[in-house]
Amino acid sequence: MRVLLIGGGGREHALAWKLATSPALTALICAPGNPGTEEIATNAVIDVADHRAVIDFCRLQSVDLVIIGPEAPLVAGHGDDLRAAGISVFGPSAAAAQLEGSKGFTKDLCARFSIPTAAYQRFNNAPKAKMYARAQGAPIVIKADGLAAGKGVTVAMTTEEAMAAIDDCFEGAFGDAGAELVIEEFLEGEEVSFFCLCDGKTALPLTSAQDHKRVGDRDTGPNTGGMGAYSPAPIFDEAMQRRVMAEIIEPTLAGMAEMGCPFTGVLYAGLMVTAEGPKLIEYNVRFGDPECQVLMPRLTSDLLPLLKAAADGDLSGMDAQWTDKAALTVVMCAPGYPERPEKGSVIGGLGKAASMDAVLVFHAGTARKGADLIANGGRVLNVTALGNSVREAQARAYQAVAAIDWPEGFCRSDIGWRALEREE
Ligand code: ATP
Repeated sequence: MRVLLIGGGGREHALAWKLATSPALTALICAPGNPGTEEIATNAVIDVADHRAVIDFCRLQSVDLVIIGPEAPLVAGHGDDLRAAGISVFGPSAAAAQLEGSKGFTKDLCARFSIPTAAYQRFNNAPKAKMYARAQGAPIVIKADGLAAGKGVTVAMTTEEAMAAIDDCFEGAFGDAGAELVIEEFLEGEEVSFFCLCDGKTALPLTSAQDHKRVGDRDTGPNTGGMGAYSPAPIFDEAMQRRVMAEIIEPTLAGMAEMGCPFTGVLYAGLMVTAEGPKLIEYNVRFGDPECQVLMPRLTSDLLPLLKAAADGDLSGMDAQWTDKAALTVVMCAPGYPERPEKGSVIGGLGKAASMDAVLVFHAGTARKGADLIANGGRVLNVTALGNSVREAQARAYQAVAAIDWPEGFCRSDIGWRALEREE
């Protein structure tokens, strides 16, 4: 099978690494890819925002399957355009991608199909939103409706903070994404991510992970795209998985089909495990980044037939097997991330780190400059390790981080802390 993988982050390097091991693969092309994918696939220079150009490229290259990594092309309807041109695509339609692209859409779906989530209201003007937030009182959560790269959510601990967040949103801090907002009840509990493959009718459960959104140790400082992750999440046992499938995932798939927008692709549920049980915080319509970097090393089944079956709309008879080992990823960032990452510093020692036992180094914001590898983004490297426990995976990952010669780079020193507290 000839595959085109769209995207160029750590998630796509992890997907490419796994796809490259598939006996069914005959060619893997990444667009744009990164210096990591270049070592195992062909990086193509195509403007991936130009749907026509991608379709022409697929025809020219006889591509059998397009895998779309990030959310923005999915929400923009890239999947629909490719499918209309007769090309097989892993990833949802724009209508189904509203599960990530519009928080209001997902909240309304939950209300209509009795899916457990935080109580909420939608607003399109500040005075009404403020009246509601004041009446509910803090803590309360204010969310811009659209895609805002993780920055459109304020967990307001005081009413004043809530008022400021509402003003920010309607004053254009998030552009069109903030034209509407959702105000919701603050949920207390532990967060966990759970992934399923979907073919429009059924969901094949994959596995769980936990990420680390804040830039600083012990979850302090501003939010980021994710500073590290591990899988599986100890809190997400088999009983919890059954409950989430029955109460959240299956009603979502049935609801989406009933509304005329069946979901195919990977459904990533962001859940809060509360005293009353698991509740949906949000859906994403793609693999998480950096969660994908801990999922792929744990998957022992061939990924390619799974993604093709989902794209073809029939996952029946498919099965995904996982090693019991834990995987943990530490994200190494450029100085100044997340506000103003500095590009250009030189990175060495990757070969040494990657040759360590049970270690993988996935590239994200890297670039080649002559013979050098340099930092070219905020999140730059994903140093991943497997271990018999989260403790062992963590020790290996940090040993590999220490082997990387990049004095300017930084990372959190406590990835996995929640799981370690449970393990010990
Ligand atoms: P991202 O893209 O970064 O995952 P997002 O912008 O899509 O985030 P959400 O996932 O809905 O937004 O919220 C971001 C974070 O805010 C969550 O991971 C969670 O920590 C917190 N959060 C969201 N909703 C609630 C809630 N109802 N109660 C408590 N915390 C919440």
